[in-house]
Amino acid sequence: MGAFDWFWKAMGSGSSRNQKRSIAITNDAAERGAELAECSQQELNERARAALSGGELKDPVEFLAVLGEASQRTLGMTPFNVQSQAVLRLLEGDVVHMATGEGKTLVGAMAATGFALMGKRVHVITVNDYLAQRDAEWMRPLVEFFDVSVGAIAEALSPEQRREVYGRDVVYGPVNEIGFDVLRDQQIVDRSEAVQAPADVALVDEADSVLVDEALVPLVLAGNQPGAAPTGQITGVVRGLKEKEDYTTDEDKRNVFLTDQGAHKVERALGIESLYDDEHVGSTLVQVNLALHAQALLHRDVHYIVREGKVQLIDASRGRVADLQRWPDGLQAAVEAKEGLSVTEGGKILDTITLQALMGRYPLVCGMTGTAVEATDQLRQFYDLRVSVIEREKPLRRFDEADRIYATMKEKNAAIVEEIALLHATGQPILVGTQDVAESEALAEALVARGIEVAVLNAKNDAEEAGIIAQAGQVGRVTVSTQMAGRGTDIRLGEGAMEGLAVIGTSRHRSSRLDNQLRGRAGRQGDPGLSLFFVSLEDDVVATGGAGEQITAQPDSQGRIEQKRVRDFIEHCQRVTEGQLLEIHAQTWKYNKLLADQREIIDARRARLLDTDQAWQELSQRAPERAEEIAGLGSREKAARQIMLYHLDSAWADHLALMDDVRESIHLRAIARETPLDEYHRIAVREFKELAQRAVDAAVETFNEVRIDETGAYLEDYGLARPSATWTYMVSDNPLAGGNSVVRGIGNIFR
Ligand code: ADP
Ligand code: MG
Repeated sequence: MGAFDWFWKAMGSGSSRNQKRSIAITNDAAERGAELAECSQQELNERARAALSGGELKDPVEFLAVLGEASQRTLGMTPFNVQSQAVLRLLEGDVVHMATGEGKTLVGAMAATGFALMGKRVHVITVNDYLAQRDAEWMRPLVEFFDVSVGAIAEALSPEQRREVYGRDVVYGPVNEIGFDVLRDQQIVDRSEAVQAPADVALVDEADSVLVDEALVPLVLAGNQPGAAPTGQITGVVRGLKEKEDYTTDEDKRNVFLTDQGAHKVERALGIESLYDDEHVGSTLVQVNLALHAQALLHRDVHYIVREGKVQLIDASRGRVADLQRWPDGLQAAVEAKEGLSVTEGGKILDTITLQALMGRYPLVCGMTGTAVEATDQLRQFYDLRVSVIEREKPLRRFDEADRIYATMKEKNAAIVEEIALLHATGQPILVGTQDVAESEALAEALVARGIEVAVLNAKNDAEEAGIIAQAGQVGRVTVSTQMAGRGTDIRLGEGAMEGLAVIGTSRHRSSRLDNQLRGRAGRQGDPGLSLFFVSLEDDVVATGGAGEQITAQPDSQGRIEQKRVRDFIEHCQRVTEGQLLEIHAQTWKYNKLLADQREIIDARRARLLDTDQAWQELSQRAPERAEEIAGLGSREKAARQIMLYHLDSAWADHLALMDDVRESIHLRAIARETPLDEYHRIAVREFKELAQRAVDAAVETFNEVRIDETGAYLEDYGLARPSATWTYMVSDNPLAGGNSVVRGIGNIFR
């Protein structure tokens, strides 16, 4: 019995009416499938379209039967009844809970084809480039069987290629690229430059990762502009500072503070009176703080690696290099300076959007994951989505062992190595899930010292990630990986791996859902398997969830603790951290939601300016004389549009920056007044009202003064050029991902 089987049963009763209906439909569909073997492709196509006519699912039995037949012909897979049930649930807009290895890729493609046949454009959203491409290519024969076009977005595509792919009916794409394209499309000054076409449905794979774990990760679009980076001198001075004496860090290593002694040292070395003088606060002090942050809180090979002379961020939760991600500029430059690399140019944040707000743009969101049930509350609260549990095709045969609990981290780590050695001696393949890259490396080292060969999945070999994880089920393999590494890759058991895959978690995560993501890697499709977690009383989840509570335990000579009381305590700690995560998510979203709503208003305004002659209308009303002067130019509407959009975008960027500042300081301001959130809302609403007016006023001024000829407005002559280059990154500033909090503390020094 799996740890969650009881949960499934409990959930099943909630949606049993739907379940019974869809089970009946899928049984009928399987029967009807037998009649279809003789049908031509064209006949099947016509029958599928008839079953979905008028934009709705008229005849689910017919639809599933036809799709099943097509799947058999094109992919050699006949959908299992459970898969067909899941397809129906997706078409109704649910998140389906379906275990790892049960064939969600096919389910997603069948549902996407169904939506497309209803005349809807679908984005099938994945967690990375690799999966988008793999799934699009794998499923292409099925989708195209119905004359539905399909393609995949990848980071490497040019704008022209993206435009072409987004024009297709079914678009597979990694969530960050899709979001970056939304942001870039918000900077265009001519509709023909847009790459995205409107989509009706987001079908999200690994839905809990995208919709919950990474929901509040902001995607950022930045443009070039020289920024404040620490000088070589400052970097040198900071390098000489000592922890505890010259600076201190807070408990969770997210903020660093100069002590008085440290400040004096810096002042002496730089030959200045006081860092806190007006002339230094906005410049020198910022640079010192950046250099100090880079030095004290960001560690090479933990938070970033240096490859080919460049600093590359490690996404701690995935344990892989986060391509095209940067820290906010000053910090990126500070880390480059610390490493003695050439410092890249600074920039200005043009726009940001969180994944949660990105999802809010789709009229319909549905999704699939092996750990949806555990995210039921979040999915309902934040997306108004319901979870549908789909039974396994074959019963689960994985054995979930009780946690092994140790007093100290040291004893726990020793026991982990022992356990792996023991299992490995039997030949059973082992997948070890660690919390971060540093832990992966340390563990791998310890195992190698024991003569055990290991494959490590981390930032340094991300290209091979999927290949390595696919091999993790071979006899004698030991694979060490961080949580997300290789997610979505099928782990098939090798010949002779009779006991199945053993999954070992080196600690419990802050949410049991993340534990279950890892567990789910073993025991796929009725395979045997084992899962086992190690915990110590010094672990993060205990420290955070059990803060302030004392627990006495009687460890044995190896430090192992068996008392039920302690076991219960650890469960309690995890429930506390789960509650904290939900609370943080809810709170943070309250701040983000308002900006998301305001962005919608900006979007609508932007679309009007782009698609109509409104810019010209407004400007010629406000500045009739100037309008008269250029009325004869064919470019008058274009010029007006360029000017209006420039000021609208720039006002929006300023608004985002301002609201960021407000958020950083709101707790100070709000003392003895309203609650911080009310105060924040009040300011956001007030500023937003002025934003619109300011943008128009500035546009009128520019319109009156700027040179305009047949080619348009010469904004650059006026110091109003758009950035000549932009880049994108995800701020791993995610309060929800336990280990993924590298840059959480920088807000107050950077923004
Ligand atoms: P999931 O995303 O649910 O973890 P995948 O879509 O990666 O699962 O599929 C896992 C494996 O199951 C793949 O190797 C796939 O070929 C196989 N599979 C899925 N559906 C079927 C089916 N109906 N018949 C046979 N094999 C299937
Ligand atoms: Mg999958």
